Amino acid sequence: MPLLADVAVPVPLSQAFTYEVPAALAGEVRPGARVLCEFHRRKLLGVVLSVSERSAAIDPSKIKPLAALVDARPALPAELLSFLQELAAYYFAPIGEVLRLALPALEREQVRALKAQGELDGVLDLGRAKQVGGRRVAYARATDAVEEPGTLRGQAAAVLALLRANGEQPVARLEERFGNARSALKKLAERSLVALDEREPPRDPFFRLAEARDVPPELNAAQAEAAARIDAALAAASAPGAGEHRAGAPHEPRPAAPSAFLLFGVTGSGKTEVYLRAIKSCLDRGRGALVMVPEIALTPQLVARFRARFGDALAVLHSGLSDADRHGMWSSLHGGKVRVAIGARSALFAPVPELGLILVDEEHDGSFKQEEGVRYHARDMALLRAHRAGAVCVLGSATPSIESVALVRRGKLTELRLPDRAHREASLPEVTLVDLRRFGAGPSGDPLISLPLHRALEKTLAAKEQAILFLNRRGFAPSVVCGSCGTLTTCEACSVALTYHRGRRRDAPPLAGAPAAPALAAPAPAGAPAAPPPAGALAAPPMDERPQGGRLRCHYCDYAGPLPDRCAACGSRTLLLEGLGTERLEATIAASFPEARVARLDRDVAGKDRSQAILARMREGKIDILVGTQMVTKGHDLPNVTLVGVVNADAALGLPDFRAAERGFQLLVQVAGRAGRRDRPGRVLIQTRNPEHPAIAFAAAHNVPGFLDREIRDREEVGYPPATRLALLRVDAVDESVGRGAAAKLAAHARTCPEGLARRVEVLGPSAAPIARLRGRYRFRVLLRARERGPLRGTLAALAGLMRDGLDRNARVIIDVDPVAML
Ligand code: ADP
Ligand code: ZN
Ligand code: ZN
Repeated sequence: MPLLADVAVPVPLSQAFTYEVPAALAGEVRPGARVLCEFHRRKLLGVVLSVSERSAAIDPSKIKPLAALVDARPALPAELLSFLQELAAYYFAPIGEVLRLALPALEREQVRALKAQGELDGVLDLGRAKQVGGRRVAYARATDAVEEPGTLRGQAAAVLALLRANGEQPVARLEERFGNARSALKKLAERSLVALDEREPPRDPFFRLAEARDVPPELNAAQAEAAARIDAALAAASAPGAGEHRAGAPHEPRPAAPSAFLLFGVTGSGKTEVYLRAIKSCLDRGRGALVMVPEIALTPQLVARFRARFGDALAVLHSGLSDADRHGMWSSLHGGKVRVAIGARSALFAPVPELGLILVDEEHDGSFKQEEGVRYHARDMALLRAHRAGAVCVLGSATPSIESVALVRRGKLTELRLPDRAHREASLPEVTLVDLRRFGAGPSGDPLISLPLHRALEKTLAAKEQAILFLNRRGFAPSVVCGSCGTLTTCEACSVALTYHRGRRRDAPPLAGAPAAPALAAPAPAGAPAAPPPAGALAAPPMDERPQGGRLRCHYCDYAGPLPDRCAACGSRTLLLEGLGTERLEATIAASFPEARVARLDRDVAGKDRSQAILARMREGKIDILVGTQMVTKGHDLPNVTLVGVVNADAALGLPDFRAAERGFQLLVQVAGRAGRRDRPGRVLIQTRNPEHPAIAFAAAHNVPGFLDREIRDREEVGYPPATRLALLRVDAVDESVGRGAAAKLAAHARTCPEGLARRVEVLGPSAAPIARLRGRYRFRVLLRARERGPLRGTLAALAGLMRDGLDRNARVIIDVDPVAML
């Protein structure tokens, strides 16, 4: 019988393809290894899923031999490969595309280069192929050896002391401090007190500065309890015989010890310290750890804390990496040189050796869901990967997701609580609700900067403390409306309002040492409107006062264009800039508080480095008031911030999305958590027109469990997750009727498949999406809802068949299992 390999190729087809393994490669082709194979006369890079001796299910003469084996050692370890296959099945995603998520781009590039050179026979060992980068740097570290007392003097003693205190250092850095570092190191190395190593340095901003080793603090009682529970789980998972549960059947019995946890701790309660202990205990057991965070670019301090504890043997995976660096990180994990990886969503696929622990920090964060290509949820998949690998999983948050809380209630996650802030003096901030219906505009004239907020800012500035103002709308004015006929200016390609961006500060001088805001800020908007704004609307100056250089931008596509002169519908010249965005808030605040240093942090000002620079200036006390979007809510430790103002709490709550309340609540609690740390009490002002809304009322009372209880009950009542399971069929097409037709066909098919007929799956729609048109395509959807996962999968499988060959080719259909974005 021939030796056959099932190979996944990077094409959007869900099945694998069968190839014959040539005799010369018989012993070497293993699952997880990459191969070159011919596919429709092209040579593609594929990944071997399985190899077996069997008779082919198809005509043997149609089976081609593999063209070449790319790596002698499988690129994907067995654990990762089988996880990826299960992920593909769960999301109805093409296996070839799922595998691409786990292989760094450079590997693909190299194969292309090798193909060009025509070196395609036999085994291609990419490890031996062209070395990337190549600049090597010498490092020195202290060994465990002990010197005879009194034998070391001068620089040798000083260098050794520094290495012992701070861990490994580049030799060049030692030379900057000690003139004779080289000879001192030579002496120390001869006595085996120091080990020298040469390797490629990480060229990453996260590693630019050396990080002094920290001393682990003593844990408080709640932290100690949490750490002990996780440690026990790691012990159970790593015990001899525990591995027998692993791998293989998805329905294996659950191991006796709990192995998945929800670490529910208020902001500043010391969750990170618990993570650090868990990683240590995992490493001590000889296993690797994976840490996932929402936005790694915004959390350099977190990485710094990891380096301070574990040194630089850490793979930091983020989108800013060059292909070469990414490849470097990937290979050091793959080769077992580094056993801890930290990164955003895509770190889920890191080839961490002997995976023993997965940590998901801020597990409630929406960024863990990928909203394009393979639409996976990294938190859900972290649980799956950990379970399959026999690893422990810890989800951490101050505002756990409803899904995770439901898992706790169903006994699938064990809850660990950190109820208090780690520093005994630090208490939770006092929260005041400002009812915008009762309070008018403060002295700034802007109805969204109420008198209480204005006063609180004054007080904070007088005390030389810092404030954060949170507003989740970018730009200057969220909409442009005709003053005569009321027509809203919308995007040509999308059914959404265009946002007016003044955008002046984009060419502003560099941040470092920038003068105080007034020099940069453009004239205050309108100098207070003469007439009172129309009821309800937040009217802005008419167009004759508009600043030069502004643009209208679509936040959903790349459109940017000039402000029109007149209304497209009626020709009137009175166009109104309505609503308040962060740009305008910044300008208004700068005008109202001319002595304050005001800065803004949102996606418009902040690339990766720049956002770090702004936060660094904030930490150094060079900014008094920071205005910004979600970006200001992420876990930055800013000890001098004593006031947090939520400018418009209602903005997020009205969206047509069953998670709107949950998301609004999380945002409020997270942003409130920025106020007051250590010895400074914080204060939070939340402006709203809906003070009774549960998301606002519970957030104001710091009552997270109360909100979770109520929200879970509400979801049960309306039949949304976690009470039910959803799958969303997203249909779009350039031609409206094509899109509608395809959606209707899918819905009809779903209703008449066995699960639909038996009403085990409810079919909602077809309907137009809340954003009915995006990037020039009309959008429709069909929502499938079920109590159980099985029937939902059955229906999706039936629809997948229809999608393959029963729909208009001009309609694009995406299956989104457990959808998050509902717009
Ligand atoms: P979280 O991740 O829950 O927001 P952190 O781990 O950042 O909290 O802890 C908040 C602050 O408390 C940090 O400055 C941290 O160094 C400090 N901290 C944490 N645990 C302890 C402890 N047991 N003793 C003293 N300080 C601690
Ligand atoms: Zn008009
Ligand atoms: Zn658009």
